[in-house]
Amino acid sequence: MARIGFVGLGNMGGPMVLNLLRAGHQVAVFDIVPAALQAAATAGASVAGSAAEAAGGADFVLTMLPAGPQVRDAWLGAGGLAAAAAPHAILLDCSTIDVATAREVAAAAGRPMLDAPVSGGTMGAAAGTLTFMVGGPAEAFAAATPLLQAMGRTIVHCGASGAGQGVKLCNNMMLAATMIVTAEAFVLAEKLGLSHQALFDVTSKSSAASWALTSYCPVPGPVPASPANHGYRPGFSAALMLKDLGLAQEAARTAGAVTPGGAQALELYRRFVEAGGAQEDFSGIIRMIRGARGGVGEGLQSSVFTIL
Ligand code: NAD
Repeated sequence: MARIGFVGLGNMGGPMVLNLLRAGHQVAVFDIVPAALQAAATAGASVAGSAAEAAGGADFVLTMLPAGPQVRDAWLGAGGLAAAAAPHAILLDCSTIDVATAREVAAAAGRPMLDAPVSGGTMGAAAGTLTFMVGGPAEAFAAATPLLQAMGRTIVHCGASGAGQGVKLCNNMMLAATMIVTAEAFVLAEKLGLSHQALFDVTSKSSAASWALTSYCPVPGPVPASPANHGYRPGFSAALMLKDLGLAQEAARTAGAVTPGGAQALELYRRFVEAGGAQEDFSGIIRMIRGARGGVGEGLQSSVFTIL
């Protein structure tokens, strides 16, 4: 069983720590918000007074923080984790951040570091069924795999440093665009007088099938567990999807990739978030699409969107 330092016990990090404790690991935790530490402390984690204290003596040091600036600061800032961790420690950042910062922090850390962002949301974090997309040295990946298996079900080594973040951004760009066009198809079907169930019964078994359709179906009914049946409570919030689409566009600019569908998806999620949808599940964008006004052939700029 390993000694683990874990920093960032929010919606994702909190339940991930509980699964590490259930697997029998010794976990020292830190978060700048003391209340976030409560459940982990009750479950047997030791609460550290600082991030550096949580990392001291640990075999693995993990962070699960909001975004790139917090990750850079936690690892490389004054009293940072890179300096505090033991020389033999393997370092992992599970946050979703930009590829450039992931590479920069790993290069500056001075020892094996993995970027290991996740997919699966808060439900996957609680159930221990997350997907981990991992970038970094193969030996560090092999050493960290048993740890990741305590928190996830699918663990994939995607390549060198930054590759995990790259795959995560590509995944969420695909997911966002798929969700938008799935929602558009349901709204078009409504206007054609078709039933949601008929559209679902055919498309879920044919070439249009996707996770957006079969797990997060944007209309109530066909998939009883989807957020559409629960007032579009997340799930995966539109605010987080917008963040990931921004990271994907940044990566596309840097890499010289052309991603017009991803750019339009970002623009639509930006409008949805600005219209009040930030804390809704990302499938809630169907309510904005249903309220959209604009003639065929008109661009996004001349369309009017309201959340119905
Ligand atoms: P969150 O805001 O709930 O949790 C972040 C935690 O980090 C908070 O408890 C905050 O107090 C703490 N924190 C911030 N700065 C800190 C610092 N300097 N030192 C110590 N603690 C600090 O966010 P979350 O939903 O848990 O998401 C974490 C990461 O996982 C994000 O990068 C997010 O994009 C990604 N992610 C989230 C989901 C999801 O469904 N929530 C799914 C996949 C990936």
